[in-house]
Amino acid sequence: MKDLVIIGQGPAGISAALYAVRGGAPVAVVAKDGGALAKTELIQNYYGFENGISGKELLARGVRQAENLGVRFVRGELFGVEFGADGFEVKTSEGTLHAGAVVIACGTVRNAPAIKNLADFEGRGVSYCAICDAFFYRGRKVGVIGSGAYAASEYAVLKNVVEDVTILTNGEAPRFDPALPCDTRKIASLTGSELLQGVLFEGGERAEYDGLFVACGSAGAFELSKKLGLETDGNKIATDEKRATNIPGIFAAGDCVKGMQQIAKAVCDGMIAGTEALKFLKANS
Ligand SMILES: Cc1cc2nc3c(=O)[nH]c(=O)nc-3n(C[C@H](O)[C@H](O)[C@H](O)COP(=O)(O)OP(=O)(O)OC[C@H]3O[C@@H](n4cnc5c(N)ncnc54)[C@H](O)[C@@H]3O)c2cc1C
Repeated sequence: MKDLVIIGQGPAGISAALYAVRGGAPVAVVAKDGGALAKTELIQNYYGFENGISGKELLARGVRQAENLGVRFVRGELFGVEFGADGFEVKTSEGTLHAGAVVIACGTVRNAPAIKNLADFEGRGVSYCAICDAFFYRGRKVGVIGSGAYAASEYAVLKNVVEDVTILTNGEAPRFDPALPCDTRKIASLTGSELLQGVLFEGGERAEYDGLFVACGSAGAFELSKKLGLETDGNKIATDEKRATNIPGIFAAGDCVKGMQQIAKAVCDGMIAGTEALKFLKANS
């Protein structure tokens, strides 16, 4: 059977992993941190803990339980999911994982840059997917907005196609290879009328750009939706009752899907997504 790759080790991701691995699938979980549970002091409304439990302890127990059943953990950052010759290619800071099915359980965090008219230029010079849109900017000047590993990875994708690429950290300290071309000035707004023309920095200086690729923080549900062409429901990934997205083989669970943002709901979503992903793998391997 091909691998199931799960993005996220929160209650949704771990629950999906438990159901899939116990059904016989080889499972890998990619996660950069503990997600929402790592920020949760005390949980008093989850079944079975009469005195409550800390988020960190619940997270650690879930990870140990999955590890004991043979789930492989990749501690790293996800950059994107692409369509491969034989399934999906999950691109991470630790390399590429090949998957027959993917469960997205990456929580809700979205690190959108606070640039007031950014949304006005979406699709008219502002993109969220280097692999999708780099081609349109051959021979032109583009920027990547971001300051971490995700921005550096989008830069590398663009550089395969576009000569002139600069990373705009928007006032933040760069957390990538210092050899990469970067501009740390804070962006006040974007300029242009019909199409993007450039950026206006705080202080009044300007720079021309034909395209800007947003890669702030880490790739989350919003960026994955843009990259893969996943249908959305508001700011969430749209799924059916089987937690299947519009792309066969890609499922979503937990806070990145509509519904209550609670552990019990995330665990339930994970159970459904893991079970359905397992069925998909059995039918397609
Ligand atoms: C302060 C606080 C208190 C809360 N208290 C309660 C409570 O008392 N009871 C309750 O039921 N719920 C509570 N919640 C909500 C609950 O924690 C969430 O609903 C639940 O954790 C959602 O689970 P999830 O698996 O969908 O996402 P998360 O638990 O957020 O997990 C997301 C996972 O995705 C990973 N990830 C995301 N992007 C990437 C990337 N690019 N690369 C690699 N990994 C990535 C993260 O590292 C993480 O492992 C609280 C939340 C917060 C923030």
